[in-house]
Amino acid sequence: MAIVNPVETPVGARRRLAQLSPSTLEPIGEIEVQTADDVKQALERARKVQPAWAALPVEERARVLQRALKLVIARREEIIETVLAETGKARSEALSMEIFASCDVLSYYGRRAPRFLRPEKRRLHGLLRFAKRLQVVYRPLGVVGVITPWNGPFILTVNPTAQALVAGNAVLLKPSEVAPHAGALAVEIFRDAGVPEGVLQLLTGDGETGAALCESGVDKVCFTGSVATGRKVAAACAERLIPCTLELGGKDPMIVCADADVESAAAGALAGAFMNTGQYCCGTERVYVVDEVAEAFTDEVLRRVGELRQGASGEFDLGAIFWDRQLEVIEQHVQDAVDRGATLRAGGRRNPELAGLYYEPTVLTDVDHQMRIMREETFGPILPIMRVRDEEEALRLANDTRYGLSATVWTQDPYKATELARRLEAGGVCVNDMTVTYGCPEAPFGGLKDSGVGQVNGESGLKSYCHALPILSDRFGGKQARSFYPYTASRDAALDRLVRWVFDSPLRRFLG
Ligand code: NAD
Repeated sequence: MAIVNPVETPVGARRRLAQLSPSTLEPIGEIEVQTADDVKQALERARKVQPAWAALPVEERARVLQRALKLVIARREEIIETVLAETGKARSEALSMEIFASCDVLSYYGRRAPRFLRPEKRRLHGLLRFAKRLQVVYRPLGVVGVITPWNGPFILTVNPTAQALVAGNAVLLKPSEVAPHAGALAVEIFRDAGVPEGVLQLLTGDGETGAALCESGVDKVCFTGSVATGRKVAAACAERLIPCTLELGGKDPMIVCADADVESAAAGALAGAFMNTGQYCCGTERVYVVDEVAEAFTDEVLRRVGELRQGASGEFDLGAIFWDRQLEVIEQHVQDAVDRGATLRAGGRRNPELAGLYYEPTVLTDVDHQMRIMREETFGPILPIMRVRDEEEALRLANDTRYGLSATVWTQDPYKATELARRLEAGGVCVNDMTVTYGCPEAPFGGLKDSGVGQVNGESGLKSYCHALPILSDRFGGKQARSFYPYTASRDAALDRLVRWVFDSPLRRFLG
């Protein structure tokens, strides 16, 4: 049963797509697929209004985020209902991942953006400090294209959009065609909070609209989605010489050391693998547990998995798979693992008691790196556990991947944790916790290898929506320029003495 279906439209009319809820399979709405012409017109509108938005004091734009925060709180039920209808995730996850995290983002940047984006006077080094003054001002890039996926449809819209807007940019937002309604609601909330007409525009559609946005002439693309699409976005941006951030897929490893608190590690493995029904970019996709604790860890995981409740309404822990295409990938990966000798210890099938797209929480052991489940992003509620001899073997296998989004290490030895973290080929590492770095703006977030390009969030992430403009002034009102020419031998000799004096004498400590 496809969740996104084309709607018949008259010849010459724009394409339309209808969405079903993955939990009930009931219709939940339709979108128009906007064309390259629509995108072009949106960009023209944005270009007209962006300068006035950028000219506002950053404090005023930050107040818009503060008002958006109040609106998210006031309209949280509506947001939760929208997210639940289009994803079928557990209500607790809509509250934590979408509402709490969005409030945190709006509050964080709403309070701190004025300080982060304040012009900076920078002290110069060496002899420069006697001659020049440097100021750095943060100038918005212009119009930013934001393209989002379906697994966190509200937070993954709110976070980049809030940052791009408060930095003074206009935003053209293209949410996923699989879960477009939460993105549309986010746009409505920002507008109600005071973002002027045209400064934030919604573009509905699928890959056609996303591609048109990348090719439209925007000044930056902020993309979150799969590796395959990320490559296309990167190519389109390279062609136009515009920057992009790419937040892509992952195959996050979890290392359980011999000295780990086994109960906590097992609980963390469940949260890592099953939160958002496993459709979490930094979800735990594979576990390496050292021999000494492998049995105790696996038993504790299985005990806890047995207690998980999957459902569509009321209180439950695990929701639906948001998209039928993902469900097919999950089934293929589990089948491939079983065919190659993995042991199914829990789950391993669609949930026969629920009508929608439900796959049971699944635990596999006896897995190895020949299996797709250990190499490719599964993005489902699957926990493959591999026994390893020691932490060195765990580390080698953890790094044996084309991905590098995040990783987790479980040990009671902080020194060992840091040493392992340093050697993990991952964009971020959590110790004794599931991967939650996206929710911590002080932690730069972004993947290595195929998991992405660039880092987002926090002060540096916010500044990446700006051009850091250096304004270098001469302390002598330009008089120095008068002595620039002519080049003479005596001037060269003086400069030569200066080189040795500054860089090859004890003065280097003060002037070099
Ligand atoms: P996707 O790449 O299929 O789609 C993402 C978005 O790109 C959608 O809005 C889609 O319409 C659009 N798109 C499709 N073709 C395009 C094109 N040619 N040009 C421009 N845009 C185009 O990804 P998805 O299936 O929606 O999302 C799941 C993936 O996202 C997973 O791999 C997951 O790991 C990843 N993800 C990563 C992060 C992160 O922060 N690293 C966060 C969430 C999800």
